Amino acid sequence: METLANYIGGELVAPQSGTYLDNINPATGAVYGRIPRSGEADVDNAVAVAERAQATWQATLPEQRAAIMERIADLIEQNLEVLAAAESEDNGKPLALAKTVDIPRAASNFRFFARAITQFASESHAMGEAAINYTLRDPIGIVGCISPWNLPLYLFTWKIAPALAAGNCVIAKPSEVTPKTAFMLSILCIEAGLPAGVLNILHGLGNEVGNAIVVHPKIKAISFTGGTVTGANIASLAAPKFKKLSLELGGKNPTLVFANCDMEKTVEGVARAAFANQGQICLCGSRIYVEKSIYPEFSRRLLDKVRGMRVGDPSTPVEQGALVSQAHMEKVLAAIDSARKEGGTVLCGGERIVPEGRCANGYFVAPTLIEGLPLNCETNQQEIFGPVATLQAFETEQEAVALANGTDYGLAASVWSEDLRQSHRVAKQLEFGIVWVNCWLQRDLRTPFGGVKNSGVGREGGLEALRFFTEPKNVCINYE
Ligand code: NAD
Repeated sequence: METLANYIGGELVAPQSGTYLDNINPATGAVYGRIPRSGEADVDNAVAVAERAQATWQATLPEQRAAIMERIADLIEQNLEVLAAAESEDNGKPLALAKTVDIPRAASNFRFFARAITQFASESHAMGEAAINYTLRDPIGIVGCISPWNLPLYLFTWKIAPALAAGNCVIAKPSEVTPKTAFMLSILCIEAGLPAGVLNILHGLGNEVGNAIVVHPKIKAISFTGGTVTGANIASLAAPKFKKLSLELGGKNPTLVFANCDMEKTVEGVARAAFANQGQICLCGSRIYVEKSIYPEFSRRLLDKVRGMRVGDPSTPVEQGALVSQAHMEKVLAAIDSARKEGGTVLCGGERIVPEGRCANGYFVAPTLIEGLPLNCETNQQEIFGPVATLQAFETEQEAVALANGTDYGLAASVWSEDLRQSHRVAKQLEFGIVWVNCWLQRDLRTPFGGVKNSGVGREGGLEALRFFTEPKNVCINYE
């Protein structure tokens, strides 16, 4: 049983409360560690050390900050195997996914923003004949970063890296359900020589330590990724204090398959979009709309593909591992039941899977496809965040666009068509922050990332992230 610690002032420390939460391996259901149950006192301590570190970190040249961040990236890469194993054990995701996606991306996050900050120059322009304007991008100061459990180190570092690069000190909280790799990152930061107090990582519950971060008067900005309801709660707590906010929230993402798609590539892509990481990615395409003329063949091929997915022990070569927790598995199974009650036909999956051997008590749900539901039902309107997708036919492009836009969410959509004109036309009409054409989750860290409507406020990625984590100050000089 490993006991994790907070990372405050460059040291690994116990929570002030002296109490801990269980850490559970979702593939076995077994408690295998303890995590600090931190609260307000720990946030106060972290803010105090961050305040002491801020002036020096802010004055450190971007190139020097970048060099430390590159060292952190190197260390993440050198520890890829052990970090990936920890991520898979903590989250239930297939080890191969953690090895090829989660951990490499965490290293890329540090590397990308280390390099980006050295290219992030002030803007300036002349104003008529006798004045010049320049705009400085100052660090905000102490910022809070709060992240979810589905892509633990990947999303944690996606926030921390730009915040640090921009010269801020950070108080960060990973999800209490998947704390392990954030704890391991603390150790790597010490090894990389990150100055004490620049990054502080606190573990514990959202409504305790998370809440204390959001309301702390000295934390000037909050970057949050998580559920829409939590996001709304955080926004209401932060509003009276006029904190800068970036909210990356839930999605109910459509996948539009047109008759002229490349059928084989599209079946592969649509299955991946619906079920990658057990459907627990905010970007997963959980509503699949297929043009009527190809619906019978496409749905048959998709069903074959999904029925063939291996589900089980994440440390073995499987396509689907465990859901993150018992509570989440029960929520997903309840959503499938409610889809049945709404009149949906479960084409495949629809139940818990009990693997043999060490994973017999794990939280596995078979990848599930459901047909026969209208747009306006709970299953098609609420985010399930599990291996569950609905299938529906459409007749016209207009209808496809209306179906896609017909929820309160607006994170990501994917369009599958070999007709370039159609792809552009449809992409233009979709009310989403991200549209992929003939691909899904093909990420470029330079591009703006985020959603519209109930999927969030603001954008991450590239210059958007560096803009968020800095305050512009305009200086106008009249030299007449
Ligand atoms: P969640 O909202 O329950 O928790 C996210 C984080 O917020 C956790 O660290 C949690 O401890 C913390 N938190 C909870 N209540 C809080 C409070 N009152 N104050 C401060 N912090 C609090 O989300 P989750 O279940 O961990 O993650 C799943 C959700 O995240 C899904 O809705 C998914 O769509 C969303 N998500 C969005 C994106 C995106 O980029 N848009 C990416 C990944 C996940």
